[in-house]
Amino acid sequence: MRIDLHAHTTCSDGTQSPSGLVVAARAAGLDAVAITDHDSTAGWTEAAEAGRAHRVGVVPGVEISCERDGGSVHLLGYLIDPDDRPLTAELARARASRATRLERMVALLAADGIPVRYADVLTHVPAGATPGRPHIADSLVAAGVVATRDEAFARWLHDQSPYYVHHYAPDPLRAVELVCAAGGVPVLAHPFARTRGAGRLTDSAIGELADAGLAGLEADHPDHDGPARVRARELAGRLGLIVTGSSDYHGAGKASRLGDNLTDPSVLAAIEAGGRGAAVVRAR
Ligand code: AMP
Ligand code: ZN
Ligand code: FE
Ligand code: FE
Repeated sequence: MRIDLHAHTTCSDGTQSPSGLVVAARAAGLDAVAITDHDSTAGWTEAAEAGRAHRVGVVPGVEISCERDGGSVHLLGYLIDPDDRPLTAELARARASRATRLERMVALLAADGIPVRYADVLTHVPAGATPGRPHIADSLVAAGVVATRDEAFARWLHDQSPYYVHHYAPDPLRAVELVCAAGGVPVLAHPFARTRGAGRLTDSAIGELADAGLAGLEADHPDHDGPARVRARELAGRLGLIVTGSSDYHGAGKASRLGDNLTDPSVLAAIEAGGRGAAVVRAR
């Protein structure tokens, strides 16, 4: 069983539609893929239909942007009730704040002579998608200012950049509580990723999340080197958490390919056993 538990679509900053993701998962030889767009569950229905048609298991999920001490922390929530009022209200608030934040970032960039316009950036945000920095990058790539999303991030869009603007994001402890209350299974995404020094939680902070209901750590992730993976496994072992693996696939928007990291079937079974808000779509 090949299971990849973290992927994005055009409902946030991925470059493939939800059904496109499922077709790509099938082509990559996956048995199951999780759809985990930033702050949105909008792609679930299309992905589920495609999963049934193409015989790929689909795990409904979301990647919630959180903030602690000014640093960005990402929380995966699997099998949440997509109609849970407190959670959907929080996600809607984050999406709205992301839109104004993008406009402010573009204004700062433009004021410094970087050739980008908000109206053009908007043409790179698919209808209904959660807007994010990768969409600014797409505008810069299309204008020939940079060659890739990665280059745009390295030069201007990274978390420590003077052009970085925060958006509303809940504290990770609150997000864990919201996911649990919505019947979901919370897993901390890429906890030791190299690119997010400011967003790294201490082991004791992760322990507090575990006390609040955090179920797992994403250990095998493209942004985790060998030592980070070992560290995540050790911490998960100490805290009694499950360990997941994923590609954090973004289609053409990132270098990773579907199936680059996998999750053990027993771990998906544990997530399924713990999730009460939505069901895994089974490949027949
Ligand atoms: P945002 O949601 O607007 O804060 O943007 C975060 C998203 O941008 C991440 O989920 C990645 O998809 C992408 N991203 C973040 N940092 C980088 C980076 N250094 N290089 C390329 N993409 C990045
Ligand atoms: Zn992303
Ligand atoms: Fe993330
Ligand atoms: Fe992600």
